[in-house]
Amino acid sequence: MSDTINTNNPYNGEHIKTYKLDSKVVLNKKLELANATFKSWKLLEISERAKLLQKLADELLADKDSLSKLITLEMGKPITESKAEIEKCAFLIQFYAHNADQFLADAIIETDAHESYISYDPLGCILAVMPWNYPFWQVFRFAIPTLIAGNVALLKHASNVTGCAIAIEKLFNKSGFPEGCFQTLLADHDTIEEIIGNDIVKAVTLTGSEKAGKSIAQTAGKHLKKTVLELGGNNACIILKDADLDKHLDTIVKARMQNSGQSCIAAKRFLVEEEIYDEFLEQFTKKVKALNYDDPFKEDTNMSCLARPDLADILEEQVSKSVEKGAKVHYGNTRGDAYYQPTILTNITKDMPVFKEETFGPVAPIIKVKNLDEAIAMASNSRFGLGTMIFTKDYKKASKKVLAIEDGAYFINEMVKSDPRLPFGGTKASGYGRELSKEGILEFVNKKTIFIN
Ligand code: NDP
Repeated sequence: MSDTINTNNPYNGEHIKTYKLDSKVVLNKKLELANATFKSWKLLEISERAKLLQKLADELLADKDSLSKLITLEMGKPITESKAEIEKCAFLIQFYAHNADQFLADAIIETDAHESYISYDPLGCILAVMPWNYPFWQVFRFAIPTLIAGNVALLKHASNVTGCAIAIEKLFNKSGFPEGCFQTLLADHDTIEEIIGNDIVKAVTLTGSEKAGKSIAQTAGKHLKKTVLELGGNNACIILKDADLDKHLDTIVKARMQNSGQSCIAAKRFLVEEEIYDEFLEQFTKKVKALNYDDPFKEDTNMSCLARPDLADILEEQVSKSVEKGAKVHYGNTRGDAYYQPTILTNITKDMPVFKEETFGPVAPIIKVKNLDEAIAMASNSRFGLGTMIFTKDYKKASKKVLAIEDGAYFINEMVKSDPRLPFGGTKASGYGRELSKEGILEFVNKKTIFIN
């Protein structure tokens, strides 16, 4: 087995850098350091931790240009989207810096005791296994609430964004966080599974594929450790006949094509009421054709390559198997290495991979439905449960369907998106637990009952 990680630029295939995996000795030192740091870190006032967060947000924004370039170099995201990702991380940091003391304040509960309340105590060292699609956002989304609650963090990042993982660790150190608060581990899967069993690690969070989620959760379960899993999605985007396309079409296109289609919450199945189907298909296709696929480093590029050639292989197979089953290629469907052309498919049936599976790239299956009820039934016909979005002028009618939606989110006249102020997570094969907001910060704390008589 290789003891190195190689990163490559997915846009041109060029090798970027080789990293040596951490030895067992180095990993043990990192675990011991995390454990030692936790003992003092947990005693700091939240306001002191918040000051460090503010510094971190400043450092992040000061380094925005170089960090954005690193994201784009390693995983091919258009540079404007990389910059937006960094800005969103700074917003998240500021949100928790301002709100954590309120989220973590003792919750008084009246009982027959003289005094009784919940104390939200940190758990210790939390391990995060993170993906490459938003190499900064996914990490900060986990790390910021986790750290301000008094835990310490270990990151095993996706191998293809190892440069980002190291840059994130440096940012924490540069911002004055005590050494050991946030550390990056360079380790293979087997080693990470071993580390989950180490007593120092108290809980694990993973964002990634269903396969990785099952594997990590199984190992954590064996050691009775809590997990939060944010896995794939197959979100439906419902467009009713009264949808305001002039107003929402750009959002609908973005819901699928943002990040070159590599987002768990992307719209992956478009369910269009029959009366508007032809018009929608025509207008959607026009917008998709107008996307500027180019070098991700150019400021006007809004569509680029996928993060790795093998991800384009998976997508190609999903599309070709669907075409074998009768799907029609309405637009696109050419590829080269990590590049996959934005593709629109029609004539979709429920047994096709593009309907049943998560497609992690710019492929849009467009499906005709008779009415809202059929749309909802089809939206729920999925192993996944991350989110559903619906576009209609009759938001009251759409609101009545809240209970019928089994997912972690239901967005009306907006694409499903993450926001630090709102909880984020899924049901079914999309995982469990919540990130962001007050719900997210409470995932990795000991909700301790205090009873004073
Ligand atoms: P993976 O789920 O394999 O990778 C995500 C992270 O998990 C990476 O850090 C990876 O490490 C790590 N990992 C995977 N298996 C293990 C394991 N057994 N032990 C420890 N760490 C592990 O995703 P891929 O990159 O292979 O992408 C495949 C598919 O996953 C995509 O096409 C998409 O459908 C889905 N996906 C979903 C994401 C989401 O946001 N929900 C994000 C990324 C992918 P390493 O890089 O070293 O393999």
